[in-house]
Amino acid sequence: MTVETTSIDTLVVGAGQAGVAMSEHLSKLGVPHLVLERARIAERWRTGRWDSLVANGPAWHDRFPNMEFADVDPDAFAGKEQVADYFVAYAKKFDAPIRTGVEVKQVVRNAGRPGFTVETSDGIIQANRVVVATGPFQRPVIPPIAPQDAALTQIHSADYRNPAQLPEGGVLVVGAGSSGVQIADELQRAGRRVYLSVGAHDRPPRAYRGRDFCWWLGVLGEWDAEVMKPGREHVTIAVSGSRGGHTVDFRRLARQGVTLVGLTKSFHDGVVTFEDDLATNIRRGDENYLSLLDAADAYAERNGLDLPQEPEARIIPADPECVTHPLHDLALAEAGVTSIVWATGYAVDFNWLKVNAFDEKGKPTHQRGVSKEPGIYFLGLPWLSRRGSAFIWGVWHDAKHIADHIATQRKYLAYYDGPQPQASIGNADDADSSNDASAASRVHKVSEIGVS
Ligand SMILES: Cc1cc2nc3c(=O)[nH]c(=O)nc-3n(C[C@H](O)[C@H](O)[C@H](O)COP(=O)(O)OP(=O)(O)OC[C@H]3O[C@@H](n4cnc5c(N)ncnc54)[C@H](O)[C@@H]3O)c2cc1C
Repeated sequence: MTVETTSIDTLVVGAGQAGVAMSEHLSKLGVPHLVLERARIAERWRTGRWDSLVANGPAWHDRFPNMEFADVDPDAFAGKEQVADYFVAYAKKFDAPIRTGVEVKQVVRNAGRPGFTVETSDGIIQANRVVVATGPFQRPVIPPIAPQDAALTQIHSADYRNPAQLPEGGVLVVGAGSSGVQIADELQRAGRRVYLSVGAHDRPPRAYRGRDFCWWLGVLGEWDAEVMKPGREHVTIAVSGSRGGHTVDFRRLARQGVTLVGLTKSFHDGVVTFEDDLATNIRRGDENYLSLLDAADAYAERNGLDLPQEPEARIIPADPECVTHPLHDLALAEAGVTSIVWATGYAVDFNWLKVNAFDEKGKPTHQRGVSKEPGIYFLGLPWLSRRGSAFIWGVWHDAKHIADHIATQRKYLAYYDGPQPQASIGNADDADSSNDASAASRVHKVSEIGVS
């Protein structure tokens, strides 16, 4: 497909959920824009996840506010293809200007004139603004301790699809966030010998007193938390919607046959060594689990909610043998381990973005997605404005804020240093008017740029 547009007001890079949400809000405000997606809409939900993945939250929750899933019961967990289909249908609903199969290769600020020169796989585009919606999880990260052992198959969870993909034999799964626990569970159920390396984690109950944990985190204001509690940068969240949804319980996984081990420390001569932290990590996960039950009970009582009591949720079974007598090391070949799945997270990659929007460590510097480089916006990053920012229901609200900011900026730029201010552009009046153009900002209107 040819990129016919040579200039546009706002260019959105990426058509995952973030790009689709962004396009909806820009459309509502009448901001001329174009979304470029190098693959397909919601590509990462289709090809960047394992086959059996379902959403972590129920369909009533893991969606945008304006549309329900057509084919999923609200209390069920949508499969990854259903999630991708949902975003395709959503984009269609408002005729989002998305061009697929076009990669943005470079963005450079123009010198001596407004805007950015955007180099794409299909030509150059001039854009007044660029919204970076390329995802919170772009580049799979495998830590440097990974052994250089040709006999072992090693993949990142981003490349894991199903048990048949791995050679016969045992598997070490490193990382016990939502991906690691679900992959370990699936491999064990497929008859594999599985070792699961468990680090620091939160593990909320799937449901408590008849309400899903997504509901509890919502009413307790946890999704809206604006800053991560100090020291919790490496704490993952272990939840699962698979098999109808269940609480992640490491002791149950151990009873099922998974051998739990501590944080993976090093590899040497075919032997992997683990930290002596398994029992501590499990205990802290329990504390997190119980603290949510406490907060839920307090909320129910304070608000007089008539929810069924669930005292059995507080019963924590005894530690299994692999926790009381943990393995400190494991000779992989002797144990029959032929593969390692690294469920160790992701990094972002902004090498293509040649703008002044980063700190000295290369981290985007922004306020609720509005970067320090005027005209550059970030969307969909973890903790962009709050805990929910990288998730389906959170990104939509962040996109609204960014669209409002863009509309307001367009009003400033539409101001004429003439007898009377130029009328606002499109529906930009709908935006927050508290920042309306004032005499303090007398800039000449930049030429209007539309989609050709
Ligand atoms: C295993 C897993 C399970 C998850 N489950 C849930 C869940 O159940 N519920 C939930 O709310 N969240 C979940 N998330 C978190 C989040 O919802 C997803 O990561 C989601 O894909 C993020 O959407 P996004 O639009 O921000 O980014 P992405 O989905 O990553 O979309 C970014 C898009 O940008 C495109 N792109 C990148 N670079 C360029 C470029 N240079 N030019 C053009 N296009 C480009 C990519 O092709 C991609 O389509 C999960 C994440 C993971 C990893």
